[in-house]
Amino acid sequence: MSQAKKLYLETFGCQMNVSDSEKIVTLMKGMGYQQTQDPVEADLVLLNTCSIRATAEQRVYGHLGKFKSIKKAKPGLIIGVGGCVAQQEGEKLLKKAPFVNLVFGTHNLHLLQGMVAAAEAGKRSSQTDFLDDEKRFDLFPHSEAEGGVTRFVTVMQGCDNFCAYCIVPHVRGREISRSAAKVLEEVRVLAEAGVTEVNLLGQNVNSYASKQPGEPDFPELLRLVAQVDGIERIRFTTSHPKDMSQRLIECFADLPKLAPHIHLPAQSGSDRVLERMNRGYTASQYLAKVAALKEACPTIQFTGDMIVGFPGEDEAAFLETMALMEEVQYADLFSFIYSARPGTKAAEYADDATRAEKQERLERLQAAQKKTTLARNRSFEGTVQKVLVEGLSSSGESLFGRTGGNRGTIFAGDPALAGRVLDVKIVEGLQTLLKGEIVHD
Ligand code: SAM
Ligand code: SF4
Repeated sequence: MSQAKKLYLETFGCQMNVSDSEKIVTLMKGMGYQQTQDPVEADLVLLNTCSIRATAEQRVYGHLGKFKSIKKAKPGLIIGVGGCVAQQEGEKLLKKAPFVNLVFGTHNLHLLQGMVAAAEAGKRSSQTDFLDDEKRFDLFPHSEAEGGVTRFVTVMQGCDNFCAYCIVPHVRGREISRSAAKVLEEVRVLAEAGVTEVNLLGQNVNSYASKQPGEPDFPELLRLVAQVDGIERIRFTTSHPKDMSQRLIECFADLPKLAPHIHLPAQSGSDRVLERMNRGYTASQYLAKVAALKEACPTIQFTGDMIVGFPGEDEAAFLETMALMEEVQYADLFSFIYSARPGTKAAEYADDATRAEKQERLERLQAAQKKTTLARNRSFEGTVQKVLVEGLSSSGESLFGRTGGNRGTIFAGDPALAGRVLDVKIVEGLQTLLKGEIVHD
């Protein structure tokens, strides 16, 4: 019997890429490829890439070097590059890296099987055309409904916001929403396969269907998803503060299945910087949304993204960011030094702060957040939280799950409890997770 062909797939960047990678695995299975964690035994290497910051992009080129040497020893190895760097570079990537066999853009997953078949027959190819209508969802394969506890469901793709620093609209194309009927169909299939939690995914889910009159808007979509039997918990990511409507805020009060957590990136606490970023809100408008969310759902946990060292950010502006963080009390925060991305508006701005100044601001911000995170985690000690059991923890010694507020929690228990929502008493709040014990009636 011939041995199965092996796929080594590496994913960089955001949840959008993680979700696309699930689809890639399904497609490649359809061609007889089984996934391996060892690139040396692979027949096909695929990199699903990210270009959000220069460092992410450089990492891709670093990795390609590694696969080039593997290919020297195994000339039949097929190497493919997809995702945002592929979208940006297209054919150029085939020229820069002659050992790469195929380049597929962010709208071209439906062509991947054909491209791999062509590569098996010795042909190199690049496909990076954008598809700008809803048909592109029909062309996208669903990932296999293999179950699991929690799954992403794509509700929209692309972005129209053009934040001045951001490459996403350039590499993912214009915003387009999937019909509610298709979203609900996928959620039902997942629920029947035993999935307990869905995470509705898009670059800015709050503006879901805003260009598609007749479709439910995002608050209505949430209410429809909440009616699906078997789904016990709903999350969504990501939200743009400018599109966070009062109706959406009210969903946190009205829908018990909606997890009390929101990822609401502020990016800066300075009005001047926010305006230069083209974010469409001021710090006080952002804080008013935070206050309304806390009022609708007093247990809600906030996470966010923050950029330091954006062109024009001085010490005073940075201190406004620190003040905003203090007021929100984020459970966790992703923070980045601004990275100029060619083709974006901000790449044309004079970048005045030095690298050392930006690094120093980032360190101050992260040290403050570390303290807040620990204090918040400790504040759960003694409380009972609803924890969705995801399975064994990474050490394999206990169970791992997440509270409604999205705090990772470990506790002793039977792995057969995966998929259940349990009452867990928190006994210790650590820096990165909570420790608890199951409450038995
Ligand atoms: N659509 C989401 C949003 O609006 O929040 C996420 C976009 S992006 C994948 C995730 C985060 O990367 C952004 O929220 C921002 O903080 C950061 N980011 C984007 N472009 C950046 C850049 N040029 N330099 C540094 N950080 C950047
Ligand atoms: Fe980028 Fe802004 Fe769109 Fe988010 S909303 S993907 S930060 S352009």
